[in-house]
Amino acid sequence: MTRLDTTTHPDLNMGAFRRRWIVILLILAVLSAIPLFNLAYGYFKNEELQRAQNRVSLYRSTLVNALERFQHLPFVLARDTHVLKAARGDDRAALSVRLSRFAAQTDLDAIYLMDRTGLTVSASNYDAPVTFLNQNYGFRPYFKAALTGSRGQFYGIGATTSLPGFFVAEPVRDEIGTPVGVIAIKLGLSNLEKSWKDGGEFVFASNADGVVVLSSDASWRYHTLTEIDTDRRAAIRANRQFGTEPLAPLDWTVKGNSTVTLDGAQYLHVTTAIPKLGWTLHFLTDEGPIWQRSMMVVIVVAIITFILLTIALFLRSERIRIALQASQADSRQLRATNAKLAREIEERRMAEQRLERARSELARASKLAALGQLSASVTHELGQPIAAMRNYLAAAEFDDDPNGRRDRLNRLNGLVTRIESIFNQLKFFAKPGFSGSADERLDEIDLRDVWTGAQELLDVDIQNAGIELTLTQPNRPVLVRGNHLRLEQVLINLVRNAIAAMDSTNHRAIHIGIDIQEGRALLSVADSGQGLGDYSLEQLQEPFLTTRASGEGMGLGLAISTEIIKEHDGRLTAQSQPEGGALFAMDLPLAEQKEAA
Ligand code: ADP
Repeated sequence: MTRLDTTTHPDLNMGAFRRRWIVILLILAVLSAIPLFNLAYGYFKNEELQRAQNRVSLYRSTLVNALERFQHLPFVLARDTHVLKAARGDDRAALSVRLSRFAAQTDLDAIYLMDRTGLTVSASNYDAPVTFLNQNYGFRPYFKAALTGSRGQFYGIGATTSLPGFFVAEPVRDEIGTPVGVIAIKLGLSNLEKSWKDGGEFVFASNADGVVVLSSDASWRYHTLTEIDTDRRAAIRANRQFGTEPLAPLDWTVKGNSTVTLDGAQYLHVTTAIPKLGWTLHFLTDEGPIWQRSMMVVIVVAIITFILLTIALFLRSERIRIALQASQADSRQLRATNAKLAREIEERRMAEQRLERARSELARASKLAALGQLSASVTHELGQPIAAMRNYLAAAEFDDDPNGRRDRLNRLNGLVTRIESIFNQLKFFAKPGFSGSADERLDEIDLRDVWTGAQELLDVDIQNAGIELTLTQPNRPVLVRGNHLRLEQVLINLVRNAIAAMDSTNHRAIHIGIDIQEGRALLSVADSGQGLGDYSLEQLQEPFLTTRASGEGMGLGLAISTEIIKEHDGRLTAQSQPEGGALFAMDLPLAEQKEAA
């Protein structure tokens, strides 16, 4: 079985890296979702509380309106003559009819008159199946309050009808102000409750004892919000305010600020007081929608964040893709450039090969040409003396004259010398450079001595040609490091060329100059000959280039001299002089400088 090494496999490493990032992002998302949810929850809760406050105020005003609408009716009726008469005992049945008419017009549950004992003597519902007539309400607080001369107000379950209602009572006084009865109205609030219920909202009112008296939900009615002590319970039972209702506690818990649980459900809770009655109006609103809306905010923010992240990731991957494409294009271009370069290199290599071939062919051709030129020159130069020698040798066979023989021998000797000099010149090229033999040793030599040596060999030619020779040289040694014989050869070459150049001139003068300038030794040969004409020194240095007649030069003198001067680290220059003639000059490093170097 193959085991994958997860520590080194790049794809797996990348996968683990991604997973870790996803987990971190999820944790961050959850951590940021919680405060966001709380923020949204707080906001929506405040908004809802505000709305609830508005709603409860509205409910309060409708309740207060409903209760106050007929507040003054008992007061007015208490002063009605019919009522007063009936309270005294007259026309009680007629008052019942009259009250019945009032009740029908005012939408009141009942209007009724009680005597001083609390017995109902006239009632608007005198002819109803359940009538107040002849019922005694002396136990009711509103009756007691009215009998003592003040207004009685009371909400409770009807002792006769078992229907709840709001009772308001006023004393009916005789001429001297003594209460002779009590006139009361009963206002049913079931329509109001029904409208609360139909509104679909949770509203209830609790009285000063904490008993729910009105409620949009019937199951909450006559339940208590707070514990009622036994005395108070006894008192309530005595005035039969809530009939036989057990006044059980409501399944109700106040949970912190503006939150309650009722029958297991959680609600936002706002209240408003109705001080005149000692009541409190409660408004409950479900917390579920707030939770849902907060959740919705979190989800929407999460979706937007997700979309933005996706867009960002998409844009990033687009950027990477474009960069990748660009780099691919670049590498394609690079590959193309490389291929082009490789082609060019190949072409160049082939061109070099061709060039090399051409060069070697050229070298071969120039070797052949040089060989041809050399053999032409050599055969030309040697041909003439050899032919002459043959003639002298043939003539010697028939000549017995000893003078003639000596003369011929001299001539033959001259021809051999000439051939020898040609060989000597050619020998130079056969063995260039210094061999280290005694002849080619490097010594410290004085250029003045070099000229003295050369002059001895040239003197005869100079005199024969009638040349005026002048010399300037310092009276101290001009020391260079070199080979005496070689440098002498150079000087002889230059002076012989100068003599040859003055063949056809009348004024013949050669000036030899030896000097030291700027740390170099100078040796110059100036003549009054024909000058260099159109030739440059480079051209004249070419081997076998000569302007002289056949047999007089092979065109090797300057070539040999240039080589020798080069071997001595020197330079050769040549120029035509303005006054006519040529000036050849060579400069060599002084011996002391060469040693220092
Ligand atoms: P050669 O003397 O055998 O001709 P060189 O190499 O010594 O060969 O000289 C080459 C040529 O340079 C000569 O043929 C001549 O034309 C020219 N030359 C050399 N020296 C002088 C000079 N002093 N004046 C004029 N021309 C010169």
